Formats: sequence, structure tokens, C-alpha cells
Amino acid sequence: MRQFSYARPDELYEAVHLVEKSRYLAGGTNLIDLMKSDVERPSHVVDLRNLGLNGIKELSDGGLRLGALATNADTAAHPFVVERYPLLASAILAGASPQIRNMATNGGNLNQRTRCHYFYDPDMACNKRSPGTGCSARGGRNRIMAILGTSEDCIATFPSDMCTALAALNATVQISGPSVERTLSVRDYHRMPGDTPWIDNNLQPGEIVTSIDLPPVSFGDHYTYLKIRDRLSFAFAIVSAAVGFQMEEGVIARACLALGGVGTKPWCVPEAEGMLEGNAPSASLFRDVADRLLEGAVTDRDNAPKVKLAPRVIQRALWQAANGTPQSQTFKSIR
Ligand code: SF4
Repeated sequence: MRQFSYARPDELYEAVHLVEKSRYLAGGTNLIDLMKSDVERPSHVVDLRNLGLNGIKELSDGGLRLGALATNADTAAHPFVVERYPLLASAILAGASPQIRNMATNGGNLNQRTRCHYFYDPDMACNKRSPGTGCSARGGRNRIMAILGTSEDCIATFPSDMCTALAALNATVQISGPSVERTLSVRDYHRMPGDTPWIDNNLQPGEIVTSIDLPPVSFGDHYTYLKIRDRLSFAFAIVSAAVGFQMEEGVIARACLALGGVGTKPWCVPEAEGMLEGNAPSASLFRDVADRLLEGAVTDRDNAPKVKLAPRVIQRALWQAANGTPQSQTFKSIR
């Protein structure tokens, strides 16, 4: 690891005045790995943990505010989250290991970088790490790579389970910067790679995520987070689906839906949610929704199986949500 200077400010206005080549540190579960691998080389690290951003509180509109520095573990175990947003709690518990969830923060989860193995190897060409060098994953070992939202320059999957649920729930990101405060939908927060794959999201230099707000609609009774991975103990999703329904007399009155493991960002298609609303669950409807979600999928050397696996995961998750049988992340068995 290279030498760097370190600051731990007590006030937000101090932190948002970004020093050139600085990086923000929260739980450190991604940044420290990247620094040890020589992928990130900040000259200055700004530790955000003294800013008081670790609270979780109810909002006046009935929603919930998750502090950016609240840990994933505290968020998943919070009584409001467990009771009102079980889809989110389930997705968080599907991610990483208990030890990592104890350190990882909500803001860090949002801003984590891809787990593409070529990105972590400075000897390999990677447009995301070193713009213009090429993409070793194209035509390489790419079984875990994305099939949706990819470009010629990058096919890296966005790895977060938590963000898949946040996108499904239509959460918003509260942002503070040197001159303005603003709000961005989680669905608009991450960027597809296009021809600038080194820019992961729409956060501007010097801006800090202060919280993530959940809307009042909780999808507390009919939900599931179904994650298929290589090992049940600790692995990123090959394909995952976050689904929430509000059911009225056997009809899906309202639906939320996002995919993980297949896209370069949490994958949402509002039209697919619209197809569900006002209809009773049926095999043909769920097949059509899966087809719509996966429209435009592009495969490379090794990741074609995702195109066959994803419709099955989507349809099973839709049935589980409709039947009110959420995927258990405690036992991590598939029901
Ligand atoms: Fe780099 Fe993206 Fe290609 Fe992976 S997929 S090697 S992150 S450019």
C-alpha cells in the first residue's frame, strides 16, 4: 500500500471540500482492498465516521431515513426495517458475510466498485481502472459479467444486493456537496458504462451521500429477494431478483421489481412493473414480464447461461412474492 495522508473531520462542510486525489472512507470494506491491490492510489483519505451520519429514523411522510454511515448489519436488524421493509433486510442479509456487514455502510454499499477480477489486477487491461487500455473481460473469463447495460468498453456487473432492493423500493439518495444539496433516485444513481466506464455513478467530485430515504410504501407482506450464487455462505449474485407486491383480492395492485447480478447497474424496467399492476398472477404474465426485463440482453464467451437462468429466477421470485413466501436469508435455502 502506498503512503497517504488521513483526516477525520467532525463537520460535513469540511469533508465536502475535496482535496485533489482524495477518497472518502466509510467502513473500508472495499476501498482498503482496492488500495492494497494498488487499484486505488489516493494521496489523501477523508474518514467520514465522525460526521454523525449513522442514524436511522422515521420521516414525517411515513418513510424511513437510513444514515449513509449506518452499517449494513444495523440496518438489516433495525426494527423498522425488519417490520416495514423486509425486502431490504432480506437483500442485505443475502450479501457478504456477517463480519463484512458489521463494517460495511449503506453509503459504501451504494458506492462500491465492481468485483470484475480483471479490475482488481493492475497487470490486466481494464478500461474502468485505466481508461483506454481495453477490456480483458470481453472474450476472457466472463461467467459472472453482466448481460444488460453493457458496452464495447465494459461488461462489469454491479455487485450489490442491497442496492437491488433499494432500486426496487424506489429509494432516494440524499447528497451534500460543496455548494448544493440534492436528491437522486437510486434508479438514476448508477451509470451504465457506455464509453466512460471509469465513472460508476452520478455523484460529482466533492459530493457525499448523507442518507438513503425509503418511501412510505413498504411492500411488507408480499415480497422476496431471491439470489442465486455459486455458494450459499458468501458469494456475489449470478442472478438475483427483488420483488414486492401489494395484493388486493388476488390482484397485483402495485408492484416493484429489480434484478441484480445481470446488469451494469441495478436493473429496473418500469414497463415490466406496469405489466404486473392490475393483473392476477399467472404463468403467462410472469413469463412475459421476465421476457420484458431481459430484452436486449447481450452475452459474451462464458455468461450465456445467465440468459437461461434469469427467466427462471424472475418467475420463481414473482410467484414467491405473490404467494407471500419470502426467500429465507436466515436458512439460505431455496423455496
Ligand atoms: Fe475492466 Fe469493465 Fe472490462 Fe472488467 S468488464 S475488465 S471492469 S473494463
